[in-house]
Amino acid sequence: MKELVLPLPDEAATVALGATLAKACDRASVIYLYGDLGAGKTTFSRGFLQALGHQGKVKSPTYTLVEPYTLQPLPVYHFDLYRLASPEELEFMGVRDYFAQDAICLVEWPQQGSGVLPTPDLELHLAYHDQGRQAQIQAVSSYGGQLLERIHRQQG
Ligand code: ADP
Ligand code: MG
Repeated sequence: MKELVLPLPDEAATVALGATLAKACDRASVIYLYGDLGAGKTTFSRGFLQALGHQGKVKSPTYTLVEPYTLQPLPVYHFDLYRLASPEELEFMGVRDYFAQDAICLVEWPQQGSGVLPTPDLELHLAYHDQGRQAQIQAVSSYGGQLLERIHRQQG
């Protein structure tokens, strides 16, 4: 499976999609999160993190670029590259070390880090749609394809 399009009529649906993907991820994964400001990338990330047991707030790490979460079965690194000045800045912060780990990386604004970030397993594209949002999910790696199948089965 290569692509899935899902309606997200309200915030709860975005949170639920994040939770579904979190439950599906059983090994190191890289997930790119695309969409305009307010499209729901951080909302999705909150659903993902809370499904793995994170309690409390999830803020876009706009100024720190990355927020680590110690969770099971894998640590999660939540990136927000909106304010990244250049992809080289990612090199300076040692980004390769994050991606070399056995971890899940959620990356908002991945286009800001092009050329330095590894290719993802999945790309999530969130877009405004009526009052809600629409998710288009694309598998990039073969593991991403498996993840997509799992989401498809869960979301019906
Ligand atoms: P981003 O990280 O993409 O800039 P945020 O997740 O911070 O976006 O903000 C998204 C905003 O839109 C939040 O106010 C959230 O409540 C709302 N929202 C999220 N998903 C939906 C949805 N499916 N339908 C309507 N509103 C949504
Ligand atoms: Mg955000």
